[in-house]
Amino acid sequence: METAEIRRRFLDHFEANGHTVVPSAPLISPDPSLLFTVAGMVPFIPYLTGQQPAPWPRATSVQKCIRTQDIEEVGKTTRHGTFFQMNGNFSFGDYFKEGAIAHAWELVTGSQDDGGYGFDPGAIWVTVYQEDDEAADLWRKIAGLPDERIQRRGRKDNYWHTGQAGPGGPCSEIYVDRGPQYGPDGGPVVDEDRFLEIWNLVFMEYELTDVKSKEDFTIVGELPSKNIDTGMGMERVSYLLQDVDNMYEIDQVYPVIAHASELSDKRYGADHGDDVRMRVVADHVRSSLMLIGDGVTPSNEGRGYVLRRLLRRSVRAMRLLGVQDRVLPELLPVSRGCMQAAYPELESDFDRISSVAYAEEDAFRKTLQTGTQIFDLAVGETRATQRSVLPGETAFKLHDTYGFPIDLTLEMASEQGLTVDEGEFRRLMEEQRERAKADARAKKAGSSATAAYRELRETGPTPFTGYTELETESRVR
Ligand code: ATP
Ligand code: MG
Ligand code: MG
Ligand code: MG
Repeated sequence: METAEIRRRFLDHFEANGHTVVPSAPLISPDPSLLFTVAGMVPFIPYLTGQQPAPWPRATSVQKCIRTQDIEEVGKTTRHGTFFQMNGNFSFGDYFKEGAIAHAWELVTGSQDDGGYGFDPGAIWVTVYQEDDEAADLWRKIAGLPDERIQRRGRKDNYWHTGQAGPGGPCSEIYVDRGPQYGPDGGPVVDEDRFLEIWNLVFMEYELTDVKSKEDFTIVGELPSKNIDTGMGMERVSYLLQDVDNMYEIDQVYPVIAHASELSDKRYGADHGDDVRMRVVADHVRSSLMLIGDGVTPSNEGRGYVLRRLLRRSVRAMRLLGVQDRVLPELLPVSRGCMQAAYPELESDFDRISSVAYAEEDAFRKTLQTGTQIFDLAVGETRATQRSVLPGETAFKLHDTYGFPIDLTLEMASEQGLTVDEGEFRRLMEEQRERAKADARAKKAGSSATAAYRELRETGPTPFTGYTELETESRVR
C-alpha cells in the first residue's frame, strides 16, 4: 500500500467518525518553546492545555515532524527518521479512552477492502501504564487481546506530560510483531525492533503539579475536560505494509537510496556500513528538502544549524561512499519527486529550495578543502609524536572556524585510526558558551558607551551555538 493511500485511509477513517481534517502546521514550531514541530499535537497545545477553547470537538491531521534527537539513530535502527509524518486524531473534551482505542483498533485491523490497514489482530501487542486498569480492560473488551499481549510499563515509558505543571496522563502504545526473524519473543518490553511501535495513544486526564522530571511529579486531581492526543508514525506503517525492512526503503524515500547507489556504484545491501550511509543520505536529503520548503535556511544557529548539519552530513556520507562531485543537484530532485504529490508546494517552490541547498553544498565543499588541510596537519603532528589522540583544540577550531560538525571530525579521525580528545573539545565548547552568556549579560546591562563596540563585535564571526540550541531542544522534549 502506497504511503499516499495510508495517508488517505487515515484521514478518511477519522473524518467519517466526525473529525475535522486540519492541514499540517509548518515544521517551524508554532510553539515558541520548541525549535521544530516534533509531534502531531504541537499545533494543538493551546487547546490541549485549556489555554484556548478548541474550535472543534474532534480533529485529525497528518503532521510534518522533525526530531533532531533521533539523528544518531537514522539508518542504524529501522524506524527513526529526522523527518517523518505523524498521523493523529484528537478529542478535546469529547470521546476518551474507549473511543480512542476503538478507533485505532478499527483502522489498524480493519480489512483492506473496507478502508483499513488489515494488520493481523494476532500480531498486535499493546502497552499500558502500570496503574491504568481501565485501558487494559478496554483492550480486552474492544480488541479481545489476551493478557500476555497487554504489557504494563512505568512512568518512564507510558506517561505523558509537558514537563511543567498542567495536564498529563497515561498513554497506551500499539506494536506490531514483525516475526521471529527480527528478534526474540516476549513483546515490546523485551524487543523493540521485532515489536515495532506504530501508534501512541495519550489519555490526558489529570492535573499535575511538582513536575520535577519524566517520572517525578504529583497528581492533583482529574481534569474537568479530558483530552485524547494520538500519534501514528506513517512511515512505520508504510514499511510494514510495503513489506520492506525499514522506513528508508518506502516509496517516499527509497528512490534517493537507489540514485545514491547508482552514483557511487555501490550496491545497496552489499555492505552494512554503506547501507547505513545511503539511508542517512536519503533521510537527510528529504529532511533538508522539507525544512527549506518551510523557510529554514542554513546558518550557524538554531534551526539553520540543524539544516546545515543535515545537508553537510548528506554530502559527507556521499563522500564516504566515494562520490566527490556535487551530489545535491542529483539527489534533491529525486526526493522532490517522491514528496511533491503530498506537498505540491515543493514543485512550485523548487527553484528557491534547490538554490538554497546547492549554495550550501558549494560552501561546504570550500570549507572541506581548507578544514581538511588543517585536519591533515594535525594528524601529521599527532603521528609524529607517536600519539593516537587528536587534540580537543583542533576539533574545536575545526568546529568554530571551519564549521566542521564534531561528528565529521570524529569520523575523519577514526578513518585515520585516531581518536579525538572529546573531553577537551566539550570543555572548550562549554567555555565558549559561558563567554557567549557573559556577552549576552553584558549586552543587557550595556550602556550607550559600549554600543559602538558591540556593533563592531556583532559584525565579527558568529560562534557556532548549534549544540546549545540542540541541547535546549532535547531538554524541552
Ligand atoms: P520510539 O520509541 O520508536 O523512538 P517514540 O516513543 O519516541 O518512538 P512517540 O513520541 O510516541 O515516539 O511518537 C508517536 C509515534 O510517532 C511513534 O509511535 C512512531 O510511530 C512515530 N515516530 C516517533 N519518532 C519517529 C521517528 N524519528 N521517525 C519515524 N517515526 C517516528
Ligand atoms: Mg523516540
Ligand atoms: Mg517509544
Ligand atoms: Mg512512543
